[in-house]
Amino acid sequence: MSIEPWQNELQNCIRTLDELGRLLPIVEKTKPREALSNMRLSITPHTLKLIDFKNPRDPILLMCMPQERELDVCAGELADPTGDLEKSPVPLLVHRYPDRVLVLTTFFCAQSCRFCFRRSRTGSVEPDPKAKEIEDILEYLTGHPEIEEAILSGGDPLTLSDGQIEDWLHRLRAIPSIRRIRIHTRVIVNLPSRITENLVSILRRHMDMIHPIYVVTHFNHPREIAEENVAAVAKLADAGIVVRNQGVLLKGVNDSADVLEELFKKLADIRVVPYYLHQLDLAKGTNHFRVPIERGIEIMKELQGRVTGIALPRYMLDLPGGKGKVPVGHGYMEKKGEKWIIESPFGERVEYRESRAFEGI
Ligand SMILES: *Cc1c(COP(=O)(O)O)cnc(C)c1O
Repeated sequence: MSIEPWQNELQNCIRTLDELGRLLPIVEKTKPREALSNMRLSITPHTLKLIDFKNPRDPILLMCMPQERELDVCAGELADPTGDLEKSPVPLLVHRYPDRVLVLTTFFCAQSCRFCFRRSRTGSVEPDPKAKEIEDILEYLTGHPEIEEAILSGGDPLTLSDGQIEDWLHRLRAIPSIRRIRIHTRVIVNLPSRITENLVSILRRHMDMIHPIYVVTHFNHPREIAEENVAAVAKLADAGIVVRNQGVLLKGVNDSADVLEELFKKLADIRVVPYYLHQLDLAKGTNHFRVPIERGIEIMKELQGRVTGIALPRYMLDLPGGKGKVPVGHGYMEKKGEKWIIESPFGERVEYRESRAFEGI
């Protein structure tokens, strides 16, 4: 069988510190060797082209370069920060909300994000679900018709083969209660060659006007939006697939209103809807990336009014222990007796009264 360009690219990822060190002498000074025992290293050839190796603080490099600081586990950091295991009625399925579930289709990713919230499972690439586990997942979904949406997650589901993806979609579509399928993937960012004509046609064959497929990707910095990424998004968008973005607020990468403004606007330009900006989950060894929530709120407040509403995501916090996601934000409104005092996006305090039914005669 001939090997496709994206598979070839996967085989040519940087996977050792020696290879990375040849490109970037600074790597040795960050003493990252031990960090690899917790999480493997992988950087795709596409990402390598975007890194500015003259800058040791390059944001794209920081997201994928192992550092000794990953060994510092801080108070409050957890192996399973989102409580996946507590909410798994069958292995590899996470059912936290009534109407939607996560299906962990693989723990493999094209690239290793050093801030990954699921790094205790993706870091060593836990085995993919076996046939029996897939059966159990499908049986659970069939037995719970309140579940309307299956979210293929991982790991990165689009690192699976075309045949495996087709199999998942085919079997999920056979369950009448599953109306929406969502695919959470980062290949649009780090392996855009994966979005092949054949993959797009597989997706198209498994959707119709009332059974959509949504793709949610993960851009964190405007410089990640290169020509190849734009082309990958365009293939999906032209096929009628809505692409959204969930990013993560990361220290030294995108913790400024200017960087996020550029990111969100560029995403809107290429037909990606900015959807969530996540507060970094409390995964072990990620503290060097963490931005205080107060700072996050301040940044989002700066962006309100400055960035077009169609490009402004919600800032979200995922509560530990599987307790769910909540929007975090500046409290714009305060009730004072009969009226509300509301802060406008331009800092003005405005009084607002709700209408009342006419009580006359
Ligand atoms: C984040 C998450 C979802 C999706 O939540 P949305 O708010 O719909 O994006 C679903 N299930 C689990 C377990 C999750 O962690």
